[in-house]
Amino acid sequence: MSKALVTFDHVVFSYGSENVVDDVLFSIKEDDFIGLIGQNGSGKTTLLKLMIGLLEPSSGRISRLTKHLVGYVPQKSSQTEQQFPITCEEIVLQGRVVQRGLFRMLTSHDRKKAQEALDAVGLLDRKDALLRELSGGQQQRVFIARALASEPKLLILDEPTVGVDEASQEEFYMLLALLRREKKLAIVIVSHDVEVVVREVNSLLCMNRKLVYHGNPEQFVEGNYAQQMYGKGRKFIHHNH
Ligand code: ADP
Repeated sequence: MSKALVTFDHVVFSYGSENVVDDVLFSIKEDDFIGLIGQNGSGKTTLLKLMIGLLEPSSGRISRLTKHLVGYVPQKSSQTEQQFPITCEEIVLQGRVVQRGLFRMLTSHDRKKAQEALDAVGLLDRKDALLRELSGGQQQRVFIARALASEPKLLILDEPTVGVDEASQEEFYMLLALLRREKKLAIVIVSHDVEVVVREVNSLLCMNRKLVYHGNPEQFVEGNYAQQMYGKGRKFIHHNH
């Protein structure tokens, strides 16, 4: 049995009077590749914030990994660095600061780890390029490298494929498969693109404030969960890799 990295035990969270996360119970294991889906406002982002430790539950318990063992890639819209004259390597080094603390000088070891992370996403040769000179897909890989630089066990990606064309999307999922294999990472990916995500992941969490589905994508597709959530007539196909 693989180890649980994160466990939610009857977790409830509310910003005000209404529960946004309501009695949620699940765990993330070492080899999981989880898709987190649900309509807008269903509590996905709140669940991620609880997972990372940016929020604490109103009731229930969460056991989490220490901070540097979780790599978080936020939504593209919240990545303001694109405008600044900052190099790819500098962005990735920020991931080392998370691991080693803000007031410690970065060493050649940190630089080596940052370069390894850039290599893992296939962008070592662009380390000195300015981030803003890179394509959207390449920029996204730099942010993944930043998350990898702290050598996490769990990688969390919030809506990573928004605005990404189909070819880059395919490359993106190939990169995730490679990272899972080579770095033995568990991955949680939040996506609106349910049809794509059910093809790629091996476990689904479907939120509607409560956890309405937790299981394999095949059953989600074959059962009527998907139709209930996303309307009749939608086709979902799952491929085993
Ligand atoms: P999702 O990511 O699935 O769209 P969220 O977790 O962002 O859902 O939001 C769930 C609900 O919580 C929504 O109704 C949203 O309006 C509310 N909400 C989110 N963030 C806050 C906040 N900081 N303060 C108050 N309400 C919030």
